[in-house]
Amino acid sequence: MATTGEKPGKGTYGCRNCGQSVTLDDHSDKMPPCPRCAHTEFN
Ligand SMILES: [Zn+2]
Repeated sequence: MATTGEKPGKGTYGCRNCGQSVTLDDHSDKMPPCPRCAHTEFN
C-alpha cells in the first residue's frame, strides 16, 4: 500500500476509493493524491 506524500517507487498504483490508476515513473516521485477523487491511499 502507498499513501500520498510517500515515495513508494516506480510502478502503477490503484486508488483504493475509485480505482483510478496513478503511475510513478521515477523512484524519487512522491505519491500525489488521486487525480479523480483526491483519496490518499493506493494499492
Ligand atoms: Zn480515487
